[in-house]
Amino acid sequence: MSAVNDGGTPNDGGTPVWEEEIRTDGPEGTQAAAERIGRQLVAGDLVLLTGELGAGKTTFTQGLGRGLGVRPGIISPTFVLMRIHPSLADGPDLVHVDAYRLGSSGEIDDIDLENTMDSSVTVVEWGHGLVEHLTESRLEITLVRPTGADAAQAGSAGGLTFDFDDDPDEERVIRIAAYGPRWEHADLRSAGPAEGAGSNET
Ligand code: ADP
Ligand code: MG
Repeated sequence: MSAVNDGGTPNDGGTPVWEEEIRTDGPEGTQAAAERIGRQLVAGDLVLLTGELGAGKTTFTQGLGRGLGVRPGIISPTFVLMRIHPSLADGPDLVHVDAYRLGSSGEIDDIDLENTMDSSVTVVEWGHGLVEHLTESRLEITLVRPTGADAAQAGSAGGLTFDFDDDPDEERVIRIAAYGPRWEHADLRSAGPAEGAGSNET
C-alpha cells in the first residue's frame, strides 16, 4: 500500500551479502528451521519477517525462540505491539514486535527498540521499511505459500469443512537475505550442531 519513503535511505535497497532458501512442508518444519537459525543469533541481531497473514511469521518466531532458549509462549501480539521473552539461560532475550498496525517509523520509534536491542534479538513481523535504520545489519526473512489460495480452495473443494481448528500442513518457501557486515562471514549453513566446529564446550 503506502510505501512512504523518507526520500532515499540507500540502506533500504541494499544488496544482500548472501541469500538462502529453505522449503518446509508444515509448521514443525518451519519451527525446526527457525530453531537452527535461533541458535546462531546473538544480542543485537535484527530479524525482519515478511509474508501475508498466515504465512507463518509467528510460527517461525516460535522456533527462533526455542533456538535462543527464551521463555516460551510466543503468540501473535495482535493487541500488544511488543513482547519481551526473557532468556532462560544467559543468552539474549527475544523482543518480538508485530508492526502490522504501525503506520510509520515514527510509531516504531515510540516503542524504543534501541533500548532493548543491545541485549536482545529483535524480531519484527511486518517490519520491512520500518526498522532497517536501527542497525547496519539484518536478516530479512520472507515466508511464501507457493500454492496460496489454490491450496486453501482445494482443501474445501468437496463442500463444507469443519476442521478449522486443525492446522493443515502446507508447504512454505522461506527466503533468507542477509544484509550488512554482521553476516559477511557468518552463514547459517554452518548451523550444524557441533560438527567439527571446535568451539569450546562448557
Ligand atoms: P503469520 O504470523 O505470518 O500471520 P502464523 O504463524 O500466525 O502466521 O500462522 C501460520 C499458520 O499456518 C499456522 O496456523 C500454521 O500452523 C500454519 N502452517 C501450515 N504449514 C505451515 C508451514 N510450513 N510453516 C508455517 N506455518 C504453517
Ligand atoms: Mg503473526
